[in-house]
Amino acid sequence: MGEFELIRHYFATAPCAQGGDGVVCGIGDDCALLALVAGEQLAVSTDTLVAGVHFPESCDAFLLGQRALAVAASDLAAMGAAPLAFTLALTLPVADDAWLAAFARGLQQMAGLCSLALVGGDTTRGPLSLTLSVFGRVSAGLALRRDGARPGDLLCVGGELGDAAGALPLVLGQRDAQDGIREALLARYWSPQPQLALGQALLGRATSALDISDGLLADCGHIARASQVELQVELERLPLSAALLAFAGREQAQLCALGGGDDYRLAFTLPPQHLAALQIEWPDVRVIGRVVAGAGVTLLDAAGQSVEPPRGGYQHF
Ligand code: ADP
Ligand code: MG
Repeated sequence: MGEFELIRHYFATAPCAQGGDGVVCGIGDDCALLALVAGEQLAVSTDTLVAGVHFPESCDAFLLGQRALAVAASDLAAMGAAPLAFTLALTLPVADDAWLAAFARGLQQMAGLCSLALVGGDTTRGPLSLTLSVFGRVSAGLALRRDGARPGDLLCVGGELGDAAGALPLVLGQRDAQDGIREALLARYWSPQPQLALGQALLGRATSALDISDGLLADCGHIARASQVELQVELERLPLSAALLAFAGREQAQLCALGGGDDYRLAFTLPPQHLAALQIEWPDVRVIGRVVAGAGVTLLDAAGQSVEPPRGGYQHF
């Protein structure tokens, strides 16, 4: 199968590549054309995943397709952008039919969930890697940036933390778990749900936001730096899933939540007057700390005493 036949067969004919709102021209020309609405800005983000670095070389192609797009779409959620389109640059060692078919199905699954249209890409031969760019729309001046946190704001997250990091020993085949727990944790690793609707609901409410990709403490550090404030995280308020607690125990679960990446939940700062209304609509939103004058990220124990954040973050048990 030649390059053009491959693109046509697996990607150009996929349901997600048949256009959508705002897509003037999709796959097949030199550029895709996206329509911009007056008063809106285009949010753009690119992510690269390299085999052996970001995912195991031998991993399931369906899950990889699903996860790669989820990770990319999560950046749109973090800005409060409405999903529009994405491109896929694919580097493959060989054109394996079963692999490509499964990968395209995974991609389609997540594209459907996120309402993202595939509008272009590139296909090359080489060591397996994927680069996805996502495009979204957001009202001018309203995007959720990292530099708006103010003392007095609450620090919130969009749901339970640490499951994806907790799942790593399962992903790598280093450990097993009982049924139920195993599936729950693996699902959080392989098909994180980008919090697109929550991100859009935060527009005009949250003062800053990001998606947690490198671990809560590291990512809160980005907000603290950009906003020139201190973020205080209360250890006892970290939302932990029953599956993670059963699998890893409280101490390791907290480490997963603080230092483990890959959760793709939103973390955001919120003036307190917006909390009640937000939690009615989004009951999984949790307050985990607050913003004060100062610098950096401080971890507080149950007594409100500052404790040393774990160094090196997550350990593989
Ligand atoms: P060009 O040579 O003009 O860069 P290509 O020959 O690389 O174009 O690609 C032909 C068309 O197929 C373009 O519209 C491109 O965006 C699209 N395309 C290439 N690879 C992919 C892919 N993996 N997924 C989706 N679209 C792709
Ligand atoms: Mg090209």
